[in-house]
Amino acid sequence: MTPPNTDTTHTPMMRQYFAIKDEYPDILLFYRMGDFYELFYEDAEYAAQLLDITLTKRGKSNGEDIPMAGVPYHAVDGYLARLVKLGVTVAICEQIGDPATSKGPVERQVTRIVTPGTVTDEALLNESKAHRLAAVEKNLNDQFCLAWVNLSSGDFRTEILSSWEALLSQLMSIRCQEVLCSESFYHWAPNSHVTFTPRPDWEFEPRSGHDRLCKQFQTNDLRAFELESSPLFHAAGGAILGYLDFTQKTAVPHINSVVISDQKTAVQLDSTSRRNLEINESLSGDTSHSLAAQVNHCSTAMGSRVLSDWLENPLTNHQLINQRSEIVSLIQQFGLSDELASLLKHIADIERIAARIALLSARPRDLSRLRESLFAIPDIKDSLKQTGNDTLSTLSEQLNPLPDVVNILQRAIVENPPVVIRDGKVIATGYDEELDNLRAVSGDSEAILAEIEQHERGTSGLSTLKIGYNRVHGYYIEISRRESDMAPEHYDRRQTLKNVERFITPDLKELEQKLLSSSSAALTREKQLYHELISGLSAELANLYELAQHITELDILNGFALYGESTPTCRAVFSSDPQVMIKGGRHPVVERVMDKAFVPNDTQLEPEQRLHLITGPNMGGKSTYMRQVALITLLAHCGCPVPADEARFGPINRIFTRIGASDDLSTGRSTFMVEMSETATILNYADEHSLVIIDEMGRGTSTYDGLSLAWSAAEHVAQTNKALCLFATHYFELTELAVRIPEIINCHFSADDYQGQLIFQHQLRPGATDDSYGVQVAKLAGLPSEVIKKAGKKLETLEGKRYDSPQLNADSHELSEPGKPIDHSAEQIAQKIESLNLDNLSPREALEILYALKSVLSQDN
Ligand code: ATP
Repeated sequence: MTPPNTDTTHTPMMRQYFAIKDEYPDILLFYRMGDFYELFYEDAEYAAQLLDITLTKRGKSNGEDIPMAGVPYHAVDGYLARLVKLGVTVAICEQIGDPATSKGPVERQVTRIVTPGTVTDEALLNESKAHRLAAVEKNLNDQFCLAWVNLSSGDFRTEILSSWEALLSQLMSIRCQEVLCSESFYHWAPNSHVTFTPRPDWEFEPRSGHDRLCKQFQTNDLRAFELESSPLFHAAGGAILGYLDFTQKTAVPHINSVVISDQKTAVQLDSTSRRNLEINESLSGDTSHSLAAQVNHCSTAMGSRVLSDWLENPLTNHQLINQRSEIVSLIQQFGLSDELASLLKHIADIERIAARIALLSARPRDLSRLRESLFAIPDIKDSLKQTGNDTLSTLSEQLNPLPDVVNILQRAIVENPPVVIRDGKVIATGYDEELDNLRAVSGDSEAILAEIEQHERGTSGLSTLKIGYNRVHGYYIEISRRESDMAPEHYDRRQTLKNVERFITPDLKELEQKLLSSSSAALTREKQLYHELISGLSAELANLYELAQHITELDILNGFALYGESTPTCRAVFSSDPQVMIKGGRHPVVERVMDKAFVPNDTQLEPEQRLHLITGPNMGGKSTYMRQVALITLLAHCGCPVPADEARFGPINRIFTRIGASDDLSTGRSTFMVEMSETATILNYADEHSLVIIDEMGRGTSTYDGLSLAWSAAEHVAQTNKALCLFATHYFELTELAVRIPEIINCHFSADDYQGQLIFQHQLRPGATDDSYGVQVAKLAGLPSEVIKKAGKKLETLEGKRYDSPQLNADSHELSEPGKPIDHSAEQIAQKIESLNLDNLSPREALEILYALKSVLSQDN
């Protein structure tokens, strides 16, 4: 336990520590002591465990051992990066007083708080991941406000969401590192995959939030952003600004507006679909087998980051999609992709450098990299312009090479500056006369010292005499032990080493003073110039961000062109006719990881055949095919070439997937419950502009419960939702739906049993199949042979006395009672026909009954 601060028996330093720690009780406190950041008490124990550093003791305070752990200050970034990755927040407490003049412990202060959502230091950021901070608030009508900010880009957005599920989905698409909420919200929130960081309720107070937002944007009200009358946003947005103030301890001038995010511009994906489609990371959490990993051919870190956002937010607007894909086609047509890629590789992370300029924390190498990046812009402009194409020329014109910034950086910063400004050598010669003069004095020191050395050697006649310097004794005259007895009288002995003795003289001390004060004055001047330079660059922030945005878009589109050239692809075509038509489609990820050839498949979903019931053996390729259709649709709506021979899409506003399921212990739901919740989302929200993928339904319950649910869900999707749907099932009985509902068609994957060897075709064909080959596939998976044998026998027995599955009852058009064998004698069928009142039947109903009876007869045969 950390002892209370009031205890006067602690050392003065520990009392100072407690006073600071009291202000940050829940945050790891890195307390600077000389060359180390030290942690004490529980902080030390926790950090030792997280960072695998040694837990030691630092003497005693108040008679008790003080647990302590520390990290060297020069390696702190590495440790902080690990903590940020673990989602841990750290307060950095620096020595701000001068140890030489301090009485008692040197003055210390927390200078910044490092949190996962607000880091901007290059060493702590993941280059290919955007770091975002969000805040949520809700009102009594269960409306939610989500506000989020990217501190690196200054991008500040908000959105009102009408359900908890919509909030979770949006949070997943934004991929925030930290989500703030009020303590009240925290206690209300249902279990979910999102980790909320509770903050005191008063930080979400709408009125003070409103004032804080106005102050930040330097406006009287929020009318310009159409948010004046949105107290939910005032609460969430204000809480974000408050948290930035708390963590950054400096102004954030680059956050100067807020945008209302418009869901309608993006194809909607619920949180489950985002996970299932493995857009930015696979279900197992790795990124290498994600969709993003396959299509990411970006040359810049900015491109890779924003590509992830594009993939999470495919566009609905065909015009905007076409604008993107047109540029991709033009880059390919003019053979520019490789050239652009190599030019873009010279572009540094302008967006993050701009943020560090805004926060006045840019380092010398940020500036030299910015300069190199700006040098590369004219070449990029030229290569776009020289095509003579109007669209590419417009892109070229958008790129502003910022000549004034280049000019000042070229004059101000040396060619290869050190990492930090601390020891100087950053500002170039010729930039500032005063600095040059101060440097000249200290720079001449070598010549002056050589002269003195020459002089002293000459007057003393001592051949081993030389002048040296160290930090403890300053400048000294060194003479070998052999000659040291002959040192002149006015030499003052200071140090005796094994082979030499060291002396000082009043003249040498005077010179030392002069040299040291001019070099310290030069350093002070240099730091001042550096600070002024960064402050001056702040005026260019808007230009820098605009350039970063244009470069990022160009990089992503060029990456799309490269992806399109790396594998056979086509440009998708969009029309207003509802459809998903894909010829020769391939799975963008599975294809890449397979060592065999991938079998392409076609898709033709349209209102007349809007639900495809897919049957086929285990391992036949159903899941791969359905995900492939969803991923091709998603890629096409990002403006990316798609792995297919031809692709055509009507308006698609949402993609739903219900694929596999497992227990979700974190939200307290069983496998079946998860499956049903996902199905409920689809049945409640899908419409004729939705693409729905259902891979198996009803497997988590008894056969007849599952079958009945799958049956009625398929019917509902086709007839009520009218969505375009791929529905895979092992319930062969469902194929009968195609008989009843014209918009449902059957298709299947097949396998051949060749001399006991299963051969999968992976080719989608029309019609249905009831071959699941489950037992053979289980054999391939390595089940013990006696189990396989017994299962085979059991299967034969079951198939022999197979219960009829739920069948169409011709009178009621409903399923007959599940499990009840149906007698289909010719006499009974005749009776049914006889009982029909033909005058009351519509032609459609009559046709359905005829189909149903025919299907009953064909099953009996
Ligand atoms: P289950 O019913 O058991 O879930 P499934 O029919 O959904 O099986 P998939 O999981 O899609 O089958 O595919 C099984 C394997 O077949 C894949 O892992 C992949 O290796 C291979 N495969 C799938 N589709 C193709 C294809 N079009 N071309 C080549 N191989 C494929």
